[in-house]
Amino acid sequence: MPIIAFEDQEYDCGPAETVLDCLIRQGVSVNYSCRAGVCQTCMMVSTDGRPPAESQVGLKDTLKAQDHFLMCSCVPEQKMSLVRPGSDGVSYDATVSSLDRLNDDVVRLRLERPDGYEYQPGQFLNLKNDQGVARSYSLASIPSVDDFLELHVRHMPGGQVSGWVAERLSVGGNVTISAATGQCVYMPGRPEQSLLLVGTGTGLAPLLGIARDALQQGHVAPIHLYHGSGDARGLYLVDVLRAMAEAHAPFHYHPCASRGVPPEGVQPVRAADQALADFTSLAGWRVFLCGREDMVKAAQKKTFLAGASMQDIFADPFVETKLAEA
Ligand SMILES: Cc1cc2nc3c(=O)[nH]c(=O)nc-3n(C[C@H](O)[C@H](O)[C@H](O)COP(=O)(O)OP(=O)(O)OC[C@H]3O[C@@H](n4cnc5c(N)ncnc54)[C@H](O)[C@@H]3O)c2cc1C
Repeated sequence: MPIIAFEDQEYDCGPAETVLDCLIRQGVSVNYSCRAGVCQTCMMVSTDGRPPAESQVGLKDTLKAQDHFLMCSCVPEQKMSLVRPGSDGVSYDATVSSLDRLNDDVVRLRLERPDGYEYQPGQFLNLKNDQGVARSYSLASIPSVDDFLELHVRHMPGGQVSGWVAERLSVGGNVTISAATGQCVYMPGRPEQSLLLVGTGTGLAPLLGIARDALQQGHVAPIHLYHGSGDARGLYLVDVLRAMAEAHAPFHYHPCASRGVPPEGVQPVRAADQALADFTSLAGWRVFLCGREDMVKAAQKKTFLAGASMQDIFADPFVETKLAEA
């Protein structure tokens, strides 16, 4: 049975058990969120040398070379000694500059941008509540224009972090955030490549950042943003996005609501289905997919089958945190 050595203690790791599950089972306080190898909240450093390859999937090459790994996807084969990450696991204190509702469920949280805080629009950060519980939220702001960090937080009933943001956080309060990470960003260099952006719910946040960034960087080809919700009341920033489409010729906004009879201008269909009906060939396109995990995974497959290259499909599934058994 492999041993996990961490902060002067040793823990027995069960057969096929991940390092994260082992530490949680034994009551060790460690950070984690998605438990699916996406959010990188549970990153650690192995001091025994190279961790298993599957525990480094998605990490930057520099982090891999420095033996960083994700505990949630690490099933150890032999004894491992761990330390918490140093400068790459750095956290920042940020002050809440505004909080408002974008619809019944979604809170817009703006934070003063801490000195030296670098990010690319569309990336996400991990935000901790006052109990130290961390969750990932995507950035809707763009650093070249905004002096704040903007997050769209969907209030989940009973949610440890979203509930805290929606019910207890107030302007002037302080939060702890991680550095921004994630590959779902606009890379300049191909301004004549059409862009397809599809998101559900707060999946709009990173897409808004990406679209604004692309326009700011002079993207000339069409940018089609499809925002979907079950019910039309779940859409938000509709007027802002319509104004953006009026102001910028390349930008096109398609709000969709799949249930009920939507108001004028909102298509009565799922966002991804509408996008694929409007554009049957996506050969040569760049595609961004954000929001519900099931939508993102299905749309990844469908946009690939419609001709988009895998290298041009960027996806951020908002993987639900698998809460530990009580
Ligand atoms: C890369 C990434 C980016 C993300 N970006 C955003 C974002 O911009 N805005 C945003 O609002 N959220 C985003 N999320 C989801 C977010 O990290 C949290 O999972 C969510 O806010 C719930 O956390 P919580 O602590 O409030 O709820 P928890 O205490 O974790 O859970 C409370 C209840 O809500 C359910 N639940 C938790 N998460 C989800 C979910 N995603 N879908 C459905 N049910 C759920 C749980 O099963 C549980 O019943 C992102 C996730 C990832 C991995």
